[in-house]
Amino acid sequence: VSFSGLGLAEWAVATCRELGIRRPTPVQLRCIPRILAGDDVLGIAQTGSGKTAAFALPILHRLAEDPFGVFALVLTPTRELASQLAEQFRALGSPLNLRCMVAIGGFDSIGQARGLARRPHVVIATPGRIRTLLEDDPDIAAVFSRTKFLVLDEADRVLDVNFEEELRVIFQYLPKNRQTLLFSATMTDNLRSLLEISANKSYFFEE
Ligand code: AMP
Repeated sequence: VSFSGLGLAEWAVATCRELGIRRPTPVQLRCIPRILAGDDVLGIAQTGSGKTAAFALPILHRLAEDPFGVFALVLTPTRELASQLAEQFRALGSPLNLRCMVAIGGFDSIGQARGLARRPHVVIATPGRIRTLLEDDPDIAAVFSRTKFLVLDEADRVLDVNFEEELRVIFQYLPKNRQTLLFSATMTDNLRSLLEISANKSYFFEE
């Protein structure tokens, strides 16, 4: 099966080809069609499995069809992971005029607020920083009111107790009808209970 067989647009398939990504990995094979179909997804997959492209490609595909405001918020536990995710989004989204920004601690928060005000398509953030940005400025909060995708990358770590308060706040600013995509290297009790309470249209993948 090729990437085009999964329902992705030709530009996305061509971009993959240019990046040397030809055959979908198992997590991509199973999850991309479900994400394109609008399902929530919980994928258990290791780093190196191609999990980033498994959510980035369908998000970019949908973004190309309907570009407006903040389209996707991707939460990840560390600054390093945020930078790596941004790199993959920028590479896979290179044919689009993709506005992708990183909002992480340790860097100029006023500059990040200004960046968010320009309504990037994809925001990749650590929970602490994005929470502060949302709480400090109602205009920034408004930017997220029509977010289509929430992604928790390394979801087992993002759902850790240390981020509980941050997530509770962040979730308040996101619309209920968004699509939620969780990717984690390990299955945890937190993920299991999320899976149980989540809506009917959800898909579970385990490598
Ligand atoms: P990840 O599992 O998201 O950390 O991705 C690991 C690496 O695999 C990244 O550098 C991707 O560019 C690369 N990659 C993703 N999907 C594929 C694929 N289908 N074939 C070959 N390489 C891939």
